[in-house]
Amino acid sequence: MSTSPTVPVTRGSLADVVALLSGLRLTVLTGAGVSTDSGIPDYRGPDSPPRTPMTFQQFVGDEAFRRHYWARNHVGWRHVHRTVPNAGHRALAAMEQRGVVLGLITQNVDLLHEAAGSRHVIDLHGRYDRVVCLRCHRVVPRTALAERLEALNPGFVERMGQIADVEIAPDADAVVEQTADFRVQACWQPDPDDPSRGCGGILKPDIVYFGENVPRERVERAYAMVDAADALLVAGSSLTVHSGRRFVRHAARSGRPVVVVNRGATRGDVYATLTLDAGTSETLTQLADLLPPLPH
Ligand SMILES: [Zn+2]
Repeated sequence: MSTSPTVPVTRGSLADVVALLSGLRLTVLTGAGVSTDSGIPDYRGPDSPPRTPMTFQQFVGDEAFRRHYWARNHVGWRHVHRTVPNAGHRALAAMEQRGVVLGLITQNVDLLHEAAGSRHVIDLHGRYDRVVCLRCHRVVPRTALAERLEALNPGFVERMGQIADVEIAPDADAVVEQTADFRVQACWQPDPDDPSRGCGGILKPDIVYFGENVPRERVERAYAMVDAADALLVAGSSLTVHSGRRFVRHAARSGRPVVVVNRGATRGDVYATLTLDAGTSETLTQLADLLPPLPH
């Protein structure tokens, strides 16, 4: 066990990656790059427009901001709801079935790994299909909230649908302008027979925003998943934020090989045994073909 990464960054080929990872059980850390081929833009990718992410403080501190947020989300989340897994998601699910992949830690909230059939997935930054009350911590399905918002704002989605360039964001935002009249739903009582009453608190997508911490229990499970594997494969993340990068540092410091597959350099390259500047859909498909199955 070394205490610091000692292997210099090496730009490798696919053959190098296969040679390094063959026979090893992998934990895979995935980011937005894995979902771009499913039509969800990566706002940190090399070709992305600059964008200021919403912070948790903005969301809880400003009612007008929150109204604008929910109006956009009410339109945008449907796009995520309709996306389907791509070849990269399918390859990871196949590698899990063959014993090569132990599990996934994903920074994506789109649930496309689960849709592709991956079974051991830690949704590090939450999931778009749930909403949480900030006061009573009740969790509500996003579909249930959609019905409430539709009832409060009849025809809103249809009107926004007329706007030509509805922009889809990784957190299910869609950029729309006319949101001033949008009515927001507070924590409510979804079912008259449900004893847990709605408290009127602020509802927030069950997604970790900037300025918020990943729940400790979830972080610990992710560290344990890294420790259970022989190597860490990073796919489609620029490792910009600490919440994901810490697992890469942890793997390197514990002596595990780290491979980073991403378009462009990442902030985790310093910890990598090998980096491969490539798209994830094609690379993961090739790895699924080339890495030998392992007994479960
Ligand atoms: Zn509540």
